Amino acid sequence: MSATAGGREVVLRLEDVRKSFKDLDVLRGISMDVARHEVVALIGPSGSGKSTLLRTINLLEPVDDGRIWLRDLEITDPRVKPDAVRARIGVVFQQFNLFPHLSVIDNVTLASRHVWGKSRTESRGRGIELLARIGLAEKADDFPDRLSGGQQQRAAIVRAIATDPELLLLDEITSALDPELVGEVLELVAELASAGTTIVMATHEMAFARDVASRVVFLDGGVLVEQGEPSQVLEHPREPRTQAFLSRFT
Ligand code: ADP
Ligand code: MG
Repeated sequence: MSATAGGREVVLRLEDVRKSFKDLDVLRGISMDVARHEVVALIGPSGSGKSTLLRTINLLEPVDDGRIWLRDLEITDPRVKPDAVRARIGVVFQQFNLFPHLSVIDNVTLASRHVWGKSRTESRGRGIELLARIGLAEKADDFPDRLSGGQQQRAAIVRAIATDPELLLLDEITSALDPELVGEVLELVAELASAGTTIVMATHEMAFARDVASRVVFLDGGVLVEQGEPSQVLEHPREPRTQAFLSRFT
């Protein structure tokens, strides 16, 4: 693939990605590019295929057809090793992100120990630094159940970026949180976005998508119905299906 599109460096390219579960067509030919530093908000009704799409990018779900590239590597090539791809992508899910039997610091440094072959001692300093960024350095040796849901999600985010991934995938990371804890998590995502992290995030936080995303992509029934500038898609949607979906949020 070409490394640029319109002069921008493409980090992720999806080309006609298709996925079915038995006779249910969940992704029906999704194509899109994500440029470096872009923040793409994936919106759409429950069941529209957002999580499945994120899971195909992380190779947790094999595609039936179509191709996905991470920079110059076609990651849907069956010869590609999933672990090598996952080492380049950070992921945070809706819940249960931290391993309950590992301390917070061990959670945060786990990937760097695996990916970079660092020892616990070598990785601890950087881990503490990351935890300090989110005000949790003093919780380093606690177990995750001692943290609030918002603290756990923020720790999961710094764990996901600990290895400096080229792409960060976030799947409704605030949906399971008490409303008063949502803000602190979104604030951290906004910080990463302004620092230039390339992010694809499934979200129902429309105000956040409008303020922080560089692009909004609307999925419905496994089809990419509409995409564009956040203000265009969210405030002046062109497609009737986008209009119908967004009318539920006002
Ligand atoms: P979203 O994240 O937008 O809510 P999902 O990608 O989770 O949507 O799901 C899309 C559709 O695929 C849903 O109908 C869901 O039930 C179905 N689905 C997802 N994963 C599986 C699976 N492993 N087996 C069967 N059906 C699945
Ligand atoms: Mg989902």
